[in-house]
Amino acid sequence: MKERFEWGDLGNIEQGRPTLGSWTNVSAYRLLYFTLRQVLNSQLGKEKSREIFVAAGKLAGQEVFLNLVGEVTDFSDLMIKVDTIFNDLKVGIFKVEEADEKKMRFLLTISEDLDCSGVSVDGETKCAWDEGLIAGLLSSFLKVMPTVKEIDCWATGAGICRFEVKIEQTS
Ligand SMILES: [Zn+2]
Repeated sequence: MKERFEWGDLGNIEQGRPTLGSWTNVSAYRLLYFTLRQVLNSQLGKEKSREIFVAAGKLAGQEVFLNLVGEVTDFSDLMIKVDTIFNDLKVGIFKVEEADEKKMRFLLTISEDLDCSGVSVDGETKCAWDEGLIAGLLSSFLKVMPTVKEIDCWATGAGICRFEVKIEQTS
């Protein structure tokens, strides 16, 4: 088996699921995600488990950029494309809430997030994979890996996921 995940590994879904098609139920998706997280948390500890989800998200973000984003003219064009992709895949409703291009600091939000919207509020952010996804997507465009931190989440009681993005300035 080859080392790195590639888009083609997702398979030919039209051929593989001619009756059921490409959509599934959110609970089925969450069942996989949440049980996997539970096992990783208990076997490796929460911090290591989080790191794994961030790393997987980064890989996903880079693959999404490579396979779904296409030509990008500038940062705001990328944000529009991400919005469309998140809508098409029903990942969530994506918005740029604040953009400070001088300081290279951005606040991005996802409402109705696939990974957490509607879960019980326990005060802990839940969307480590999304942090990675955003970082991976942006890194493919920026050629540097930004820092992405979820500062609000459905699970912290915010009713929305909010991600702070900081991009290291080279000059
Ligand atoms: Zn969240």
